[in-house]
Amino acid sequence: MSNSMRARDIAYHLHPQTNLALHESVGPTVMARGEGAYVYDDDGRQYIEGMAGLWCAALGLSEKRLVEVATRQFNTLPYYQNFAHRSTGPAIDLAERLIELAPVPMSKVLFQSSGSEANDTAIKLAWYYFHAIGKPQKKKIIGRRRGYHGTSIASASLTGLPHLHRDFNLPLEGFLHVSCPHFYREGRPGETEEAFASRLAEELDTLIIQEGPDTVAAFFAEPAMGTGGAVIPPAGYFAKIQEVLRRHDVLLIADEVITGFGRTGAWWGSQTFGVEPDMISCAKALTAAYMPLSALLLSERIYGAMRAQSEKIGVFGHGYTYGAHPVACAVGLEALRIYEADGLIEHSAVMGQRLGVGLRKLADHPLVGEVRGAGLMWGVELVRAKATREPFPAERKFGLDIQQHAFEAGLVVRALGDTLVFAPPLIVNQEQVDEILRRFASALDAGLHGFLKSGGVLEAA
Ligand code: PMP
Repeated sequence: MSNSMRARDIAYHLHPQTNLALHESVGPTVMARGEGAYVYDDDGRQYIEGMAGLWCAALGLSEKRLVEVATRQFNTLPYYQNFAHRSTGPAIDLAERLIELAPVPMSKVLFQSSGSEANDTAIKLAWYYFHAIGKPQKKKIIGRRRGYHGTSIASASLTGLPHLHRDFNLPLEGFLHVSCPHFYREGRPGETEEAFASRLAEELDTLIIQEGPDTVAAFFAEPAMGTGGAVIPPAGYFAKIQEVLRRHDVLLIADEVITGFGRTGAWWGSQTFGVEPDMISCAKALTAAYMPLSALLLSERIYGAMRAQSEKIGVFGHGYTYGAHPVACAVGLEALRIYEADGLIEHSAVMGQRLGVGLRKLADHPLVGEVRGAGLMWGVELVRAKATREPFPAERKFGLDIQQHAFEAGLVVRALGDTLVFAPPLIVNQEQVDEILRRFASALDAGLHGFLKSGGVLEAA
């Protein structure tokens, strides 16, 4: 990278989810070019994109069919809006396709540009719905600790990660959180997964009763948690949670922003984990991330109430300038066509199996506490003591060490705390999966070597 690029990035470009002071000394890695599952920096170094960017570039970084569709749409109608009875062909086609694909019967699709906006919209619609049916006091929204739903004011409130709240005056009032369904960390000694799931359902039930069921509007859940560290729900979890929600007339909103479109080896995480939501938010792989687009799918029950309410008020007073952007919708439609035509959902399951088997072999590594995942979404959690599951001290930031060793070995993986997460593009092939495994194993070894050399002590299993 030229010195000028580095200096100008530091001078002008603010990086989200970054230690801003540290960035001034570390500087950027400037990515210059993509090819399939690989990305190249501007010095020509190659990396396997083990994270598909931010869990999103499902078709890799050089899918010409998406470029062609976007170009065609840019040349035909590069923008139009969808307020007040206006529409475009790509928006209509994509809405229809999403309703066809939905994991449970859904009625309508509302488009935005990001996952955060989709979740904000879902919160607003939950409120609008309960106003419409004469229960306006049903307002509280429940998320889960370590859940991630975005960084806008409402979606960050819903998120259960302390660093997204701290010093931002968040969460807003009326946003509550229950336990993370992570059996390895939250399960009690001797407890089965099933008993753990029952305990979490009881916790939710108790919270709703304490708060008053007539004050609780909705519960949000990622079918499998992404940014919380690739957390897979325990057996029976969603069936038990759904029973509680139905009993108290609390809406269930599935945040499929990461899990939608093949990530867990099925079209939807809701199918993999038995979720029956009232609304679904999705984004990311919807366009394989080539254009910003998110969608909110809603059930007939919600739509019927909204319809009546908008008639009463005279307008459904919500919407975004770039919602249903025709180029984004055209790209989305083509991405969904490619997933199906190229068999990429099945391919994700097969490659995910290979990645999972390979990562599970690393469970014997002295640093590895748990390997967990589904489809092409995996997490490897590092511990200081395997037997007691004692983590490394948080300030040691050991996960970041491994992330850096992997990066130096030509592999992009992401440390979320001390869990290294993997979400390669759905197009990843067998050789690339094996390469990811080799590069990651060498990063783990380099991390272990450095740790021991600096006088670190691991507790043996
Ligand atoms: N929900 C989930 C599950 C996510 O992973 C993300 C982003 N990683 C979001 C919502 C927010 O999406 P965006 O960054 O597009 O606003």
